[in-house]
Amino acid sequence: MYVGRFAPSPTGLLHIGSLLTAVASYLDARGRHGRWLVRMEDLDPPREKPGASAAILATLEAFALHWDGEVVYQSKRHHLYAAALAQLRARELVYPCYCSRKTVHAQAQGMGVDGVVYGGRCALLGTDKRLCTDKAPAWRLRVGTELISFFDAVQGWQQQCLNTDVGDFVLLRADGFWAYQLAVVVDDAAQGINHVVRGQDLLVSTPRQIYLQQLLGLPQPSYAHLPLLTNALGQKWSKQTQAPALDLRRRETLLRQVLVYLGLPQAPQVDSLADLLDWAVQHWQLGLVSPQAIVTA
Ligand code: GLU
Repeated sequence: MYVGRFAPSPTGLLHIGSLLTAVASYLDARGRHGRWLVRMEDLDPPREKPGASAAILATLEAFALHWDGEVVYQSKRHHLYAAALAQLRARELVYPCYCSRKTVHAQAQGMGVDGVVYGGRCALLGTDKRLCTDKAPAWRLRVGTELISFFDAVQGWQQQCLNTDVGDFVLLRADGFWAYQLAVVVDDAAQGINHVVRGQDLLVSTPRQIYLQQLLGLPQPSYAHLPLLTNALGQKWSKQTQAPALDLRRRETLLRQVLVYLGLPQAPQVDSLADLLDWAVQHWQLGLVSPQAIVTA
């Protein structure tokens, strides 16, 4: 059975870009008679806004985007991430890293697809050095030199060499918080997610997630990365670019707009948002979604 999900981070309210992701993942799941789960990615308390989780769920309900089962909160699942890290540690696939942000930048192997490529200083440290500091380390995963390729249902074939494009990456931060890359892989597998439909900004993360799935012996879901919605300056809508929160009085207009962005034809007049979503489920085709960024008003 198809199992999909929407996995917002409660760092702010939903905006048009996150509504697009919610709607597309919902339609793809419902269009294939699948389950649609909601997972709250509340792993980074310093970046979270009080009340955002509840507000996001209320917004989904207001758009008639009803999920299956209980909402899962990553903040309650640290034991699962710790077990995955312990498994990798037992196989010496991870190592503690004591580098400050400054050192990481100063000793970088250049720029990768998602920031600087870690130069590997701590990968070469002896055990003694690791033990004689009381500073808590970050834990990094050793990456390989092979190419990781995958087919994305919207963006087409992708490939990355983790060694040169990303470098050894962090699974547990020095401040004690779990990295998104590990948590997402553990949870997608634990929840039986077999289809991931999400924003294009996460396309560069996917090879890291596939690599982790391979190491942990977890199944690889199929991936579809949606086009980014940008403002008139070509910037992704986000908190930084002041994406306006969704105006719930204009729900129908906003939902119709999102359906057009997703390549659906103009929807007919309907009596309710639930009817509009039902119509969209009937007409949904992932193949109609454009890979290119969409400039919104
Ligand atoms: N929590 C992530 C975000 O809000 C999405 C993670 C995912 O879909 O894999 O950007």
